[in-house]
Amino acid sequence: MTIPRTIAIDGPAASGKSTLGERLARRLGYLYFDTGVMYRAVTLKALQTGTDVYDEPRVTRLAEIIVIDVRQASVNDGRMYDVFLDGVDVTWEIRSAPVAANVSVVSTYAGVRKAMTEQQRRIGLQGNVVMVGRDIGTVVLPDADLKIYLDASAEERARRRFVEEQARGIPTSYEDILDNVRTRDKIDSSREVAPLRPAEDAIILNSDHLDADGVLEAAIRLVEAA
Ligand code: C5P
Repeated sequence: MTIPRTIAIDGPAASGKSTLGERLARRLGYLYFDTGVMYRAVTLKALQTGTDVYDEPRVTRLAEIIVIDVRQASVNDGRMYDVFLDGVDVTWEIRSAPVAANVSVVSTYAGVRKAMTEQQRRIGLQGNVVMVGRDIGTVVLPDADLKIYLDASAEERARRRFVEEQARGIPTSYEDILDNVRTRDKIDSSREVAPLRPAEDAIILNSDHLDADGVLEAAIRLVEAA
């Protein structure tokens, strides 16, 4: 049996892509690469430097010069990996509400996407990778050996994110999260460059009625069948 060397997992916000990607990569001994981290890091940099997120040229310039580094987790606080932005650990800051509220706007910019896509492609083409995002199967790695599009209803995705944030002690409301999920879906699916949509040859996996183990098992069956 030949196992797919490049696996693309796309889908809407909070559909469980990161959990699946990390567990599948661990199972196969592959690199796990979560591309959302990169768009979040650019957004954080804009917020930190007081750059207007609607100022496309300035945000694009930031995306071209910042150094984003993803390394093996060095702290045992629930993180899957460390994220460094210009040498500073920002693993949790990139998950903050202000970043979540602005990241989809930043991700619509063609120049930002170009800078991020180039780096992602370089990593992806080395193989033995599970890459997670919105446009991996359609744009970043159109020749990926296996493409999974992980979907779930907005309500179920918001419910999962709410439980996660509560567990981390973050004060939050289900309605606010549902609002953010819906807004991000809308922006991500309707943008001109690399909109969120399943690749033609992607296999759609709906996780509404599956827990994390169920999703992993379904994905492993797809890997074996690929
Ligand atoms: O996956 P995550 O929720 O961390 O991604 C944050 C945001 O980054 C998404 O809402 C989307 O706007 C953007 N993104 C993207 N393309 C990717 C990964 C993420 O546009 N490949």
